[in-house]
Amino acid sequence: MKSAPSAPPIVFHNGTVVLPDKLLLDAAVVCEGDRIKRVGHLRTLPRGATLVDAKGGYIAPGFVDIHVHGGDGADFMDGTADAVRTACRAHARHGTTTIFPTTTTGSPEQLSAMLQACLEVQRSRTDDDGARLAGVHFYGPYFAPDKVGCHSQAGRRNPEAREYRRHFDTSIIRIATCAAELPGAEAFYREARKRGCLITCGHSNATWTEMARAFQAGMRHVDHFWCAMSSVASLRQRYGTPMQASMEQFVLANPEMSTEVIADGCHLAPELLEFAYRQLGPRRLCLVTDANRALDMPPGRYRFGCAADGEWIESDGRVGFVPGGGALASSVVGLDTMVRHMKAATTASLPEVIRMASLTPAERAGIADEVGSLSPGKRADVLVLNQRLQVKRVFLGGVAMAAS
Ligand SMILES: [Zn+2]
Ligand SMILES: [Zn+2]
Repeated sequence: MKSAPSAPPIVFHNGTVVLPDKLLLDAAVVCEGDRIKRVGHLRTLPRGATLVDAKGGYIAPGFVDIHVHGGDGADFMDGTADAVRTACRAHARHGTTTIFPTTTTGSPEQLSAMLQACLEVQRSRTDDDGARLAGVHFYGPYFAPDKVGCHSQAGRRNPEAREYRRHFDTSIIRIATCAAELPGAEAFYREARKRGCLITCGHSNATWTEMARAFQAGMRHVDHFWCAMSSVASLRQRYGTPMQASMEQFVLANPEMSTEVIADGCHLAPELLEFAYRQLGPRRLCLVTDANRALDMPPGRYRFGCAADGEWIESDGRVGFVPGGGALASSVVGLDTMVRHMKAATTASLPEVIRMASLTPAERAGIADEVGSLSPGKRADVLVLNQRLQVKRVFLGGVAMAAS
């Protein structure tokens, strides 16, 4: 819902404003209706303004999560509007204001139900719905058989035009993943390019050559770096010698490629986060949660994917893992935790870390005109963080999220 035009302006003040390339000390952000109006130092406050005191903390853009499965007990693959809203509200509490619900592997019917539920929530949005749904990340089911990870193996298949055209026809898919080595992958990428999606390769054991062909077909991003992707060692197992370059080398060597990390402190050691930041820089590296339904839930067993038949995973409150096996099974924390960890674990500056959780994913997904930074004209998605980068207030389109 849009705020009435007569609503007083909102002024965020008494904080450090986080811009994509710098910090503005003791500055303000002025919002009118659902838009950001001005950013900078104010001599006088607009008349009748509603003041939001950042109390010496940070005024930051809302986060953008391009890879996320659920939270607060709900997985987007549950396929109901209720589940979608529950997960979107949970992530908003962690500072995510724009979200791309992400599919797992599953049957064509389960995927259709998920897409329809997301469409319903997008069309009938209210101020209580939490993170705004910018589109779906069509992620599973087109994974390589040997890189399915914690997803259901039964729900995996090769891309089939009749199926995916029907999914694309919903027009809600904005990000599309497929393992590059699968038969039909290039046709899938070309279709996704026609539909204007960010095209990504994930859960894949692709070689450099397969990545180069995928690139020709429009692929520009790789899902969760170092997780469920090829390496020189995995390709040696597939092809022997001479050893071949993998997805890792292809991304690092190609300036048009971007990727993402799960910076929860459990998936990747600090030196890998630092390496990714140094090699790729903040414009090619996104922070994602890849969170499952165990976010904000007590430790225990949960279904990953659809509540009916998703694979069982376990959460210890810090990370998800495969019961008994120890292999990791996506994260259970929000983007606020990723931001704090990335800041603590690497030499990236605060503007760079926040950029990786906001403007960079927005740019890659093609929505940076609308969200991703505190720029006049963009949607008033604004966070107040304290000095320890904990989320204190969340505003979505100029509307304060109710404290929970
Ligand atoms: Zn994955
Ligand atoms: Zn995932």
